[in-house]
Amino acid sequence: MYPIIYVIAERCIACGICYLSDVCPVYAISEGPNGVPVFNEDDCILCGACVQKCPVAAIVMNN
Ligand code: SF4
Ligand code: SF4
Repeated sequence: MYPIIYVIAERCIACGICYLSDVCPVYAISEGPNGVPVFNEDDCILCGACVQKCPVAAIVMNN
């Protein structure tokens, strides 16, 4: 199964906006290795909020 939401790690600047703020309505994002986010796909409702908020467009959503 391919991921529904993922981060392009090389593009992420580890700013923390996606996991340190209340961006995600279902708290599906947490801090992973090197400050890169990890997504809990079971909880993600594909609202797109994190995709919109990322300043470097590192988050990709498949639908
Ligand atoms: S798409 Fe929405 S629900 Fe899914 S991780 Fe991003 S902010 Fe959370
Ligand atoms: S908002 Fe974007 S750049 Fe910042 S930690 Fe999340 S994925 Fe990385």
